[in-house]
Amino acid sequence: MIPEAEEGGNPFPAADTLKGGASSADALSRRPRPFSAFDQPNPDDRMLVDTHAHLYVDDFSGDREQVMARALGNGVRRIILPNIDSASAGSLLAMAEAYPGVCLPLMGLHPTSVREDYKRELDAVNGWFDRALFHGVGETGIDLYWDRTFLVQQRDAFREQLRIARRLALPVVIHVRDSFSEVFEILEAEQDGSLTGIFHCFSGSAAEAEKVTGAGFHLGIGGVVTFSNSSLPRVLESVDLQHLVLETDAPWLSPVPFRGKRNESGYLPLVAQKVAALYGCPLEEVARITTANAVRLFKSAS
Ligand SMILES: [Zn+2]
Repeated sequence: MIPEAEEGGNPFPAADTLKGGASSADALSRRPRPFSAFDQPNPDDRMLVDTHAHLYVDDFSGDREQVMARALGNGVRRIILPNIDSASAGSLLAMAEAYPGVCLPLMGLHPTSVREDYKRELDAVNGWFDRALFHGVGETGIDLYWDRTFLVQQRDAFREQLRIARRLALPVVIHVRDSFSEVFEILEAEQDGSLTGIFHCFSGSAAEAEKVTGAGFHLGIGGVVTFSNSSLPRVLESVDLQHLVLETDAPWLSPVPFRGKRNESGYLPLVAQKVAALYGCPLEEVARITTANAVRLFKSAS
């Protein structure tokens, strides 16, 4: 059963401020923060949440304001920004600060950025959690598509980040590429019932989808679902809408008809429309359910 988003309001918290200047004792107290009310009532039931976008990368440096205007104009009113590594953290936080309550930052170390120095990178991640507000851990996971050299380190970094998520009671955004069994083995070992989050850009089998949802995680569905050669539509036939959240993964993986071009959050309605067609339901229902899922997942900040 999915609780409906509150009418006339929304429990989604504003990523109001960063904790700049807060004392370390204050930063470490990590008391649950009250949800701040929406600055304005939910204007319609088509509000979408892009649960995965890297709008802070250089691809957007020339027109970031226009990209944000198009996203907001298309009903994408919350955008989750997962981190990549220590080099991206500054621009990620600058964007979250520029769009408070709209762009909500996560902190983590991306698996393709895990190398010999990964312990130092994880120290940096932990340091950021002490200094600023984040709505989750990510993105983390294991990527064996490009390179298996650092598999041992990737496993360790993933495990450590699941433990951060548990300690801070935050959702975790997981990147899986040619690594489902490696990821799932660690997730099962670390799952104490409290871990939740998203298998970002899910592209696995129906059996894997069942494992993900059975573990209390959501499937992140993006532009791939619109590709004519995607197996995802068939896999989703056995997955209830209540297990889905929507994402773009901008600037990558643009939905049709923008496939191959730069992706942006304003294209998210194309993904929502495709999902609505697959489930044979109105767009509003897809928006309402996936937004409620995202709100529930990212409702707390560290
Ligand atoms: Zn990503």
